Amino acid sequence: MEQWEADDARRRHMARFGRRDTAPELALRRELHRRGRRFFIDRQVSRRCRVRPDLVFPRARIAVFVDGCFWHLCEEHTHLPKANAELWRRKLLANRQRDARNQAILTAEGWRVLRSWEHDDPAAVADLVEDELDRWAAIVGRPEGRGRE
Ligand SMILES: [Zn+2]
Repeated sequence: MEQWEADDARRRHMARFGRRDTAPELALRRELHRRGRRFFIDRQVSRRCRVRPDLVFPRARIAVFVDGCFWHLCEEHTHLPKANAELWRRKLLANRQRDARNQAILTAEGWRVLRSWEHDDPAAVADLVEDELDRWAAIVGRPEGRGRE
């Protein structure tokens, strides 16, 4: 652990949000499944970066991220720990810069990148994802994300 090791409350928060299969991710997956949409999860999509979008629609080249409020520095919900606040701020800003770099790589490779926050309503995020899928289907003339990939 580094010197800016978190206090107990912060560690619990990280345990909750700093990993895969968080509650907001699961809620979005459930919602899209309920609507008959099928997708891959946690899959690397570019050779140029190791980022693994939370949801991937490969044919439509749509990548969806559900960003945790703490790790990705949501303005509404990130309350930096009082201890070592400056180090935390730098660490989390670096996360955000990495997000932006990864997004630029994916976009350059033809991916449509959709980002949501863990605090967003899963149904509203699912609406946005479906809008993109429908837009893609209208262009290529076939449905995507329905049935198995
Ligand atoms: Zn938030």
